[in-house]
Amino acid sequence: MKCSYCGETNSRVVDSRHIGDGIRRRRQCLSCDARFTTYERVDLGGIFVVKKDGRREKYNRDKLSSGIRKACEKRPLPIGAIEKVIDSIEAELYHTGKTETSSSLIGDLVMQRLKHLDHIAYIRFASIYREFSDIDTLKEVVDTLAQGEASLSIASQSSQHRSPKTDSLLSLTGEN
Ligand SMILES: [Zn+2]
Repeated sequence: MKCSYCGETNSRVVDSRHIGDGIRRRRQCLSCDARFTTYERVDLGGIFVVKKDGRREKYNRDKLSSGIRKACEKRPLPIGAIEKVIDSIEAELYHTGKTETSSSLIGDLVMQRLKHLDHIAYIRFASIYREFSDIDTLKEVVDTLAQGEASLSIASQSSQHRSPKTDSLLSLTGEN
């Protein structure tokens, strides 16, 4: 994406928003710091999603969005975080070049991203998507998160910065 002021091709995205059937991005030029807006269209209109029971339906961004929003309800997420999650899932689906995908693949893609974004949202989404039937399955998921957290804190021991993931894990113990 070329800077309209200096022609530099490297920019960083400062905000990303879904508008109509496209994505509006605010970008900042890495060379002159100028900010400009781009509109990008991701066309997943032709993609079909195969559900668990074998039925096919047209990919629907709003449906995906409402599922993720439910999981993220009242979580302290940065503005635009959910849209970014959906954008990156759509980009990944788009780049597979396939005209058909499965609801379980989309579910996995959501899980991957929520795991990094917010542990509570991750567990909420997992409990619906994986259809937890008992407390042991839930415990497995929480244990996996806790293990990931342990290796993360070893890796960043020298860092004074407190991970937001640790915060959500702490609030998990408070919530239950
Ligand atoms: Zn520039």
